[in-house]
Amino acid sequence: MQKTAIITGASRGIGRAIALELAQQGIYVILIARNSQELTELQTQVEQKGGKADFYALDIAQANEVKSTVEQILDKHSQIDYLINNAGVGSFQEFETFEEAELDRIMNVNIKGTFLLTKELVLHMKSRKQGHIVTIASDVSKRTFPNGSVYCASKYAQDALMSALRKEVRSFGIKVSTIYPGLVDTHFNGNQPGEPDNKNWLKPEDIAQSVSYVLSAPAHVVVDELMIHPLEQDY
Ligand code: NAP
Repeated sequence: MQKTAIITGASRGIGRAIALELAQQGIYVILIARNSQELTELQTQVEQKGGKADFYALDIAQANEVKSTVEQILDKHSQIDYLINNAGVGSFQEFETFEEAELDRIMNVNIKGTFLLTKELVLHMKSRKQGHIVTIASDVSKRTFPNGSVYCASKYAQDALMSALRKEVRSFGIKVSTIYPGLVDTHFNGNQPGEPDNKNWLKPEDIAQSVSYVLSAPAHVVVDELMIHPLEQDY
C-alpha cells in the first residue's frame, strides 16, 4: 500500500522541499499551510512529476480547524504513516521590546500547532500500532542567543514535547524523531532566499534529505535526534 505523509508548513521553504522529496520517493503527500495558492502550485508540481498530493489550507494553531481537517484526511486515507511537523514562525528582538501578541503568535504556531496536529495523529497511529512523527525543531532547541528569547523558548518546548512523546509511544511501535537545523536559506522571518551572503547556508533540500534518512531507518531503529549545520556556521 502506498505510504502517506502529512507535511505542515508545506507552502514554501523546508516543508515544500520535504514534500517534493517524499513525493519523488512515491509517498502520497498531504500538504498543510495557510496559503492555498502556494499549496495549489505545489500540488500541481508534484502531480506533473508523477506524484500524488492533496492539500488543506488551515491555521494549525486553531484546534477546530485541525480536528476537522484530520477527520477529512482520515475519511480519504485509511492510514497515515508519517507526520512531518515543520510549520513554524519566529522573530528576533530585544527582550523588553517583545509584545505579548508576538509571543502568542510564535507559541501558538510552534507549540500549540505542533501539539494539536500531533495529538490527532497519535490517536490514529496508536490504533494502527505504527507510525513515524518527525519534527523540524531547530539548533536553538539546544542553545540560546541574544534577541532570540521567545523563539528559543518555543523551540526548547517543542523539543521537550517530542522527547517526552517518544518515550510514551515507543511501546505502540510509533517512532518520534527530531531534526535540529542551523541556518537554512528560506523565507523564514522575512529572509530573502538566494542572497549572496547566505550562499553557504543549508538549503531546504538538505533538510529534506535528513527527513528522508530518518524515515528510511530499518524497522527496529529510531533516529531520535539529528543536528545539522552549515559547515561555516559558528554556533
Ligand atoms: P518559511 O519559509 O517561513 O516557511 C514556514 C512555513 O510554515 C510556511 O509554509 C508557512 O505557510 C507555514 N506556517 C506558518 N504559520 C502557520 C500556521 N499558523 N498554520 C499553518 N502553517 C503555517 O520557514 P522555514 O525556514 O521553511 O521554516 C520551517 C521550519 O524550520 C520552522 O519550524 C522553523 O522554525 C524551522 N527552522 C528554520 C530554520 C531556518 O534557518 N530557516 C532553522 C532551524 C529551524 P503559510 O504562511 O502559508 O501558512
